[in-house]
Amino acid sequence: MEIIEKIKDMQAYSQDLRVEGKVIAFVPTMGYLHEGHLSLMREGRKRGDVLVVSVFVNPTQFGPNEDLDKYPRNFDRDREMMEEVGVDVVFHPIVNEVYPEEYQTFVIVDEVSKNLCGLKRPDHFRGVATVVAKLFNCVLPHIAIFGRKDYQQLKVIERMVKDLNMDVGIIGMPIVREPDGLAMSSRNEYLSPKERKAALSLYNAILAVRELFENGERRIGALTDRAVGVIMTEELARIEYVKLAHPENIAELFGVVWDQALLALAVYVGKTRLIDNTVLGEEIEKC
Ligand code: AMP
Repeated sequence: MEIIEKIKDMQAYSQDLRVEGKVIAFVPTMGYLHEGHLSLMREGRKRGDVLVVSVFVNPTQFGPNEDLDKYPRNFDRDREMMEEVGVDVVFHPIVNEVYPEEYQTFVIVDEVSKNLCGLKRPDHFRGVATVVAKLFNCVLPHIAIFGRKDYQQLKVIERMVKDLNMDVGIIGMPIVREPDGLAMSSRNEYLSPKERKAALSLYNAILAVRELFENGERRIGALTDRAVGVIMTEELARIEYVKLAHPENIAELFGVVWDQALLALAVYVGKTRLIDNTVLGEEIEKC
């Protein structure tokens, strides 16, 4: 497994692969890997001749009072895990390589960034779209694989790729969950044992709303109230939002659900902000 730190070296490596006619599959990550990340890498392994993974904690997607400094990092452990799934190249640049002095160019994906996480994290998706666009220009992938754990992010990237005519195929993969249903996340590391128990309320809320939906409930108020009710039983949980949104353009839905709807949750458990989601009307992804 090769580790590349410089943008020029990454581009040269990928250009050679393209000349050889190799399909480059790419998985962008912020490291501190878990089974969710590995599922994306396994998919990339299947679909590409060469699998490139980036490990980069992207400062521009964190707000001023967010957890950039304490975001968990362990590159040695990540490296072992990537070796094991058969990653060919790890792109691991330092911050100054990606954002040198006088950096000033950003990608804004307008409407799809506004609702849900965009409400309280106004520059978050600007940071995400910018770094993903830059990473695409470094890695030159044919396909890139993202998790549906960050559902809105996936839609932002899909929109960006369409709007900017980027020649990259975007693949969305199901949420990987712990055996009890908690969506895997690098931030689960922050949870104390009590908080870990309370964090399960997100998945329990999703299950409860799915059940209601399957029994025919289509009123948005009734569906979101059910989720809120489940989460509020946990003292340690504080809701940022519980919303139903359009599964493609992420616009807020009002009244009743006609077809499919994204149920999206952001909940603080203690100081840790967790997100989870499901698309109502779609087969449930396997835990
Ligand atoms: P991150 O390192 O958190 O930026 O995530 C890197 C990629 O892994 C993103 O495409 C995430 O959506 C994806 N990912 C993170 N957690 C999960 C999960 N539990 N299941 C599936 N994909 C995930």
